[in-house]
Amino acid sequence: MKILISADMEGATGVTWPGDVLPGSPQWERFRHPFTSDVNAAVQGFFDGGADEVLINEAHSSMRNLLLEKLDQRAQMITGRHKTLSMVEGVQHGDVDGVAFIGYHTGAGTEGVLAHTYLPNSVTGVWANGARASEGLLNALVAAEYGVPVVLVTGDDKTCEDAKGYAPDARCVAVKDYVSRYAAVCRTPARTAADIRRAAREATVLAVRHEPPQRGPFTIELEFDAEHLVGAASVVPGVERSGERRVAYTSPTMYEGIRCFKAVTTVVSAAVEEQYG
Ligand SMILES: [Zn+2]
Repeated sequence: MKILISADMEGATGVTWPGDVLPGSPQWERFRHPFTSDVNAAVQGFFDGGADEVLINEAHSSMRNLLLEKLDQRAQMITGRHKTLSMVEGVQHGDVDGVAFIGYHTGAGTEGVLAHTYLPNSVTGVWANGARASEGLLNALVAAEYGVPVVLVTGDDKTCEDAKGYAPDARCVAVKDYVSRYAAVCRTPARTAADIRRAAREATVLAVRHEPPQRGPFTIELEFDAEHLVGAASVVPGVERSGERRVAYTSPTMYEGIRCFKAVTTVVSAAVEEQYG
């Protein structure tokens, strides 16, 4: 049995503000440790539960955050950027039985610590076939296309609520409770590691790959905080204006859908000016 861990940082233990997750900052250096502790606890829990293989995919920013040298030696890790499926790279090869979202967070424009969807600013909302979409929901749709269920989600309490919508059977661990976008009631790394390890062990039984459902096509809509970003995003083939600050596109599969999403957010981030965004 093989488990894939998609590891994002905003939902890690103790993380509450941008400096905590900004590569190169002193706070980021500090929070690499609790982030690594969360991921390692999940690795250990999955091996406790009977997994044979655990592959970690770094999913935050530069995708160079976790401390490889601190990880359980049975795990392997994909480090670095430019991967076909981005945050869930590795799920597409037909050998993964379950995926865990560690350090996840809620979507742009919703309640939650460091809530956003891909871009820290600029995107104020994302919808997939009409449903409000977080990174968790989008990545769960990608994994589902390969028959892989989401078995474990960690983040703040709002992230756990969000996960009930896209992975109702998954185990969830709230490592902190939302107070504001930049504040939370945080539990210590020792406490959250114990909680995550236990939940991962219990979640291992849920890791059963199944026949992928036919769920496409997928219409993805994005809302921006400035009108000019519609013009910028619309250079991506298939992406059309759907409102004053909105674009939409339709993809037959989430394989296509998530790659187009990546293209749109990359183009949009390049179109943001320092002043007047
Ligand atoms: Zn994220």
